Amino acid sequence: MFIMSEDSQRTQGRDAQSSNIMAGKAVAESVRTTLGPRGMDKMLVDSGGDVVITNDGATILNEMDIEHPAAQMIVEVADTQEEEVGDGTTTAAVLAGNLLGEAEDLIEQDVHATTIVEGYHEASEIALEAIAEQVDEADVDDEILRQVAESSMTGKGTGGLTAETLAETVVDAIQHVDTDEGVARDNVTVHTEVGASSNATELVPGIIVDEEPAHDGMPSEVEDASIAILDVELDIQTGDVDAEYAIDSIDQLNAAIDAEEGELQGYAETVADSGADVVFTTEDVADRVANALANEGILVFEGLGDSDARQVAAATGARRVGDLDDLEESDFGSADRIHTESFGGDDLAFVEGGAAAETVTVFVRGGTEHVVDELERAIGDALDVVATALESGEVVPGAGATEIAIADKIREEAAGIEGRKQLAVTAFADAVDIVPRTLAANTGRDPIDVLVDLRAAHDSEGRAGLITKGDEVTIDDPFEYGVVDPADVKREAIESATEAATMIARIDDVIAAE
Ligand code: ADP
Ligand code: MG
Repeated sequence: MFIMSEDSQRTQGRDAQSSNIMAGKAVAESVRTTLGPRGMDKMLVDSGGDVVITNDGATILNEMDIEHPAAQMIVEVADTQEEEVGDGTTTAAVLAGNLLGEAEDLIEQDVHATTIVEGYHEASEIALEAIAEQVDEADVDDEILRQVAESSMTGKGTGGLTAETLAETVVDAIQHVDTDEGVARDNVTVHTEVGASSNATELVPGIIVDEEPAHDGMPSEVEDASIAILDVELDIQTGDVDAEYAIDSIDQLNAAIDAEEGELQGYAETVADSGADVVFTTEDVADRVANALANEGILVFEGLGDSDARQVAAATGARRVGDLDDLEESDFGSADRIHTESFGGDDLAFVEGGAAAETVTVFVRGGTEHVVDELERAIGDALDVVATALESGEVVPGAGATEIAIADKIREEAAGIEGRKQLAVTAFADAVDIVPRTLAANTGRDPIDVLVDLRAAHDSEGRAGLITKGDEVTIDDPFEYGVVDPADVKREAIESATEAATMIARIDDVIAAE
């Protein structure tokens, strides 16, 4: 008896398990070489020929167009990691893949999937305790935040700029939006502009919109600006009854032109009389109106996109006005300074010191599209980790030191766990070793030797990581070198990797409809 369509495919038992595990492992393996300060980049070319060059785990996995459902779950691990804490995506994916690899070995030794799942869950609890023990006792101050930012950007395509200088900009940005109610991470935006060297990257105390003045004669800078935002067309209203004349004499033509002229003049006067000195409108402005407003020294931007209009409104406190007759001073927003500048072919308007919100923009510069794109991702990650570290106030040593401590604690506690579950718990510790092993491999070191040395140093000194600074690679206390990661990044990686690996390991039946 058939209960499914004849076209559907079914894989069961060990076959299902091992094909899922292989697919998951393969995906994780694909990002392994990008981990850490000496991690390599990947060039991804899509079917349309578009090229992305990146070191970012989540970006790579998302660009790879992965179809296998179990493999897709590893991509989700990276996505969750990115959403929750903004960094550690490669770590999480590699860890999930290794947990699957260890599970495969256990299944071959006839350890049942449910035992593996239980063991993994127990081990992940121990891992979280180990992370708590690794948290730095010192307060998370500016210096530590800077180190968090730098650690997250080391090895990213930061162009000519050292991660050090960029780290300052990132910390400045987050501190700008740190309030009593927490870090308003959304108030930091990143704006990219190709053209200059990445050294020109800077923090703008406000927002940037892609706009140029509506008329050449307008000022390029206005200080203490009163800002109106209009959703009104300042042009002849086509479709207006009085715009449709049957013209059959010169007099009538002149009258029509006068009427138009009067209408446009009216718009210009209303705006000028309102007292606004900068106007943003989502609609068009007739040349004659723009000219008249330029003569009044008013700066006008026309054809604004809706999201830009909303951004300007949020930053300056201006209320959008849909009817010119309703334009009142109480609708105005204000900003310390609005200025326009041309970069290559792009005209940008900077709205600085808006009265309503503490928004800031990291203005990212770089020589080419690929450079600024990768810089944007690296800075985005760094902003996230600094916000995370500032909010939780918890950082742990990087460079594999926390993972060494996690594996050590799990092995210690595994001794007290009975039966086959002990095998699964120990396997989890072996999987966590992948992080220091990979950092070693990516710096050209022998992973086994490094692991042995790290464990020995951990036993004698407590904190031991494989630190890369410039050309030097040393085993030492990462805190001494400023290699620190937010504790939440480590926690999230353990949790999401455990979840995905146990979910995949438990599947013993794959039914695919055609
Ligand atoms: P992920 O996507 O997991 O964040 P990264 O390529 O950003 O991957 O690498 C992060 C790892 O690199 C972390 O374990 C971090 O502690 C480590 N790391 C960062 N800077 C250094 C450094 N200078 N020396 C050694 N390890 C570092
Ligand atoms: Mg990272």
